[in-house]
Amino acid sequence: MLLQVEAVSRYFKLARGRMLHAVDEVSFNVDGGEIVGIVGESGSGKSTLGRLLVGLGSPNSGQIRYNGTVLPREYSARDRLRMASEIQMIFQDTRGSLSPRLTAVEVVAEGLIIRGENRLNAHNTARSWLAKVGLDHSLAERYPHELSGGQRQRLGIARALAVEPQLLVCDEPVSALDVSVQAQIINLLYEISQSQNLAMVFIAHDLSLVQLLCDRVVVMYMGKVMEQGDAATVFRQPGHPYTQALVSSSPQVRQIEDSTAQNHQPIPGEVQAPINPVAACRFADRCSKAEAKCHSQPPPMIALSEQQSVACHLV
Ligand code: SF4
Repeated sequence: MLLQVEAVSRYFKLARGRMLHAVDEVSFNVDGGEIVGIVGESGSGKSTLGRLLVGLGSPNSGQIRYNGTVLPREYSARDRLRMASEIQMIFQDTRGSLSPRLTAVEVVAEGLIIRGENRLNAHNTARSWLAKVGLDHSLAERYPHELSGGQRQRLGIARALAVEPQLLVCDEPVSALDVSVQAQIINLLYEISQSQNLAMVFIAHDLSLVQLLCDRVVVMYMGKVMEQGDAATVFRQPGHPYTQALVSSSPQVRQIEDSTAQNHQPIPGEVQAPINPVAACRFADRCSKAEAKCHSQPPPMIALSEQQSVACHLV
C-alpha cells in the first residue's frame, strides 16, 4: 500500500477553550497508481486533510504511513526535501502557489535544481514537462501572471510532476477554471496518472469530476468520513444518507448514474463548523432519517461489502 491514513485527527484551538475538529479520526488507503477522490461540502475538512498528507501541518493523533514508513510529526529540512520528491500537491490558487518572480521554465526547474540537478539539465527537463502538459514552448519565458488560469494550472502540474513523485495531492485543481478548460485538465491528469502509474488524492466538491476520474471515493462531512468505497459502487448505490443527498443534489452525476433519480434537491440546512462536537452522528441535524440514537451515539463504520463502508446507524 502506498499511503495509509490511520485514524488521523487535526484539531485547532479557538478562543474560550473551544476546539475545532477539522479532521476527526479519518482512515483510508491509496494504492500505487490509484486515484482516490475526497468529496464533501465546503467545511468538511477535505483541504485540511490534503495539507496533512503533504506535511503542511501535522496530525494531533493518528498517523500517516507512506510506503510503510510513518511520516514524522515535525519535518526537518531533510525530511521535507525527501518527501517533496515523493509527494507533491497541486493547489486551487495557482496565483498564490507559483512564484511571481520566476518564469514558467524556472518554476518547473526549481525543484530539480534543489534536488541537485545542474541548471542546464534541469531547464531541459523543465521544457520537456511544459510540452507534456500542453504548454507551448513560446510560453516558457513568461511569468505566471502573463498566463491564463488554465495555463497556470498546467504549469502547476508540470512543476509537481517534474520531480517524479509517486503521489499527487490535488486540492480543487479545476474549480477556478472554465468548464472547457476543466475537461482538458482532468483529461491531462488522467492520462498522466495512467502513463506514469501515478497515485492521486483528488479533492473536489464537484461529484461529477470525481465520478469520471476516481477509482475510489471518500465522502467527508464535518471532519468525519461518512462513506468510502469503490467510486462506481458509491455513485450507483450510495449507502449513507449524506452521500445519497449529495448525489441527488448533483444533476451531472444523476445523468450518468441515475439510480437515485429524484429531482434536483439541495440538502436542507448548512454545514456547521465541528466545534466541540457532541458524541452523535454529525449529519443528524440535516438527516431526514435521523432517529433518537443518531443524536446521542456516533455511528460506527460498517462494511456493506468489500467495496463499500458506511457510518450510519440505519445500515
Ligand atoms: Fe442519518 Fe442517523 Fe444515519 Fe446519521 S446515523 S446518517 S442521522 S440515519
